[in-house]
Amino acid sequence: MKNVIFVAPPAAGKGTCSEYLKSKFNYNHVSTGDLLREARIKGDELSNRIAAIMDSGGLVGDDIVLELLQNKLNELGTSSKFILDGYPRNILQAQTLDKLFNDLNISDYVVIYLQINFEEALNRTLSRLICPNCKKGYNKNSTEFKPKVDGICDDCGTSLITRSDDNEETFKIRFDNYMKETESVLDYYKDKNKLVTIDSTQDFDSIANNIERVI
Ligand code: AMP
Repeated sequence: MKNVIFVAPPAAGKGTCSEYLKSKFNYNHVSTGDLLREARIKGDELSNRIAAIMDSGGLVGDDIVLELLQNKLNELGTSSKFILDGYPRNILQAQTLDKLFNDLNISDYVVIYLQINFEEALNRTLSRLICPNCKKGYNKNSTEFKPKVDGICDDCGTSLITRSDDNEETFKIRFDNYMKETESVLDYYKDKNKLVTIDSTQDFDSIANNIERVI
């Protein structure tokens, strides 16, 4: 099994695919969005700044994200396989990750681009729910991903919530940021022969099969 890096626009399914791989193959799921959502509720000055940036749809500073990521990777150690969900989001982060992988002696990884168009990603965003406790994601308009009981997490019974950045206005900024900052990361990994593109608008079984073939 290879380490996996997901690069994709918001709501393309990075979290859902990561959770699938985690439960089926025991991957460690490292989501910089989740790390930041944990950091934003600490109540100190830094957490207030993180919360304001996330709610405006902007990207949190590279240094802040890197520190959280480094701590998490150090905690996991190099023997376990991981999925990076949400990092890198710009070329500088991709270069930083190269250095980090170099230091940790990691070369066995694949970058999976989950391709989705603006309209589909917006629709998913507006109907997305998450469990604040176990972080599982749901979609109330999808037969595949709606919870068994409305508004309740199937796995831990917690009431589901809408993410504070899952609204139309913030989504547009996030998508725009993706186009401006993150799309270039795809070429970076294409040049390294690490990139695989998967159509994220297929049914989930097809997406999962495609992913399993490349990991
Ligand atoms: P996500 O859960 O991946 O959709 O991320 C939610 C938000 O967290 C993003 O809109 C950014 O504000 C922030 N974020 C997550 N990952 C990064 C990153 N690698 N660099 C900067 N900001 C990030």
